[in-house]
Amino acid sequence: MIDYHLHVIAHGDRPMTVENIIAYLEVAKSRGLRQMGITEHDRYLEEIDLAAFQEAREKYQDVELRLGIEIDFVPGAEERMDRDGSALPYDYVIGSVHRVDNEEVDHPDHQDIYEKWETYDLYEAYYKNVREAALSGRFEILGHPDLIKIFRHFPDRDITPMLEETADAVAESGIVVDVNAAGLRKPIAEIYPSRQLLEMFHRRGVPIILSSDAHAPDQVALGYDKSLKLVHDVGYREVATFKDRERGNLSLSA
Ligand SMILES: [Zn+2]
Ligand SMILES: [Zn+2]
Repeated sequence: MIDYHLHVIAHGDRPMTVENIIAYLEVAKSRGLRQMGITEHDRYLEEIDLAAFQEAREKYQDVELRLGIEIDFVPGAEERMDRDGSALPYDYVIGSVHRVDNEEVDHPDHQDIYEKWETYDLYEAYYKNVREAALSGRFEILGHPDLIKIFRHFPDRDITPMLEETADAVAESGIVVDVNAAGLRKPIAEIYPSRQLLEMFHRRGVPIILSSDAHAPDQVALGYDKSLKLVHDVGYREVATFKDRERGNLSLSA
């Protein structure tokens, strides 16, 4: 199995040293992972220590190490996204929508956006950004595609058509979807994406990766019992993998 979206530096919690990377790899190994990808937030790009990454990859061969980055998708910031998305020899680039009108939707201390917007309209604006991120062609992987549910603000109208439109765009784009267990640790207490949205992706042949979005070593592959059951129940039998921005695949049972 793989964990393709996680943070060692996280939010400036620790430096990217060989020891800190190996602490994550140890947990990855103990939880049966074959591959682990480090994907820092783009705003910590300067703190990514490529030499430490390469040394850890050499030293610790029980789990294959990959390098990615999580780009914060903001319409209008194409120059910044292109610069950050090509700054290092990444194996893959994740594009994640965290913002509507440049305001974060997932910050526990700044939830004003949910007061300002009518929830249905906010969801519409969020999924519009998700479709744009997918169709932009900048990213191999679409991060946590329904993050907007994080604090359990739900629209009072059915959003099925909105999700179908988003699944169509994702399928058309050829992007791979991040099945991200971090939602289990948030108020929503479920995986991103929801079963409903994941079923829409599966019907359209959209490939997936699995991740924990760990921000600490003990979170590596956390929640995978639930993720694996979900993706298997929906009908997935393999995950996508990446090396040097080339896609491969791995059986779910591997
Ligand atoms: Zn994210
Ligand atoms: Zn993340």
